[in-house]
Amino acid sequence: MNKEKAQKVLEAVLLKDYDQLRELNIIAFGNSGRQQMQTACITALDDVKGICNPRLSHNYCVVDDIGCPKCLKALIVLATA
Ligand SMILES: [Zn+2]
Repeated sequence: MNKEKAQKVLEAVLLKDYDQLRELNIIAFGNSGRQQMQTACITALDDVKGICNPRLSHNYCVVDDIGCPKCLKALIVLATA
């Protein structure tokens, strides 16, 4: 993900603009617990794949559930680099 896209994604997450996230082709992933806690990960964040990829057999989450602290931190780093 490049800086420009990271800025758009970050803004959309902060504003809870889920239509914008879908328009940006953002895909979230996480199990049902992450769905309930709204701590889903963002799949397009290549930098944190190793930390955040839980290798789920079922993906319960949609962009509305995004909120993984590690993914958000990575997004901020990308957006402000
Ligand atoms: Zn994550």
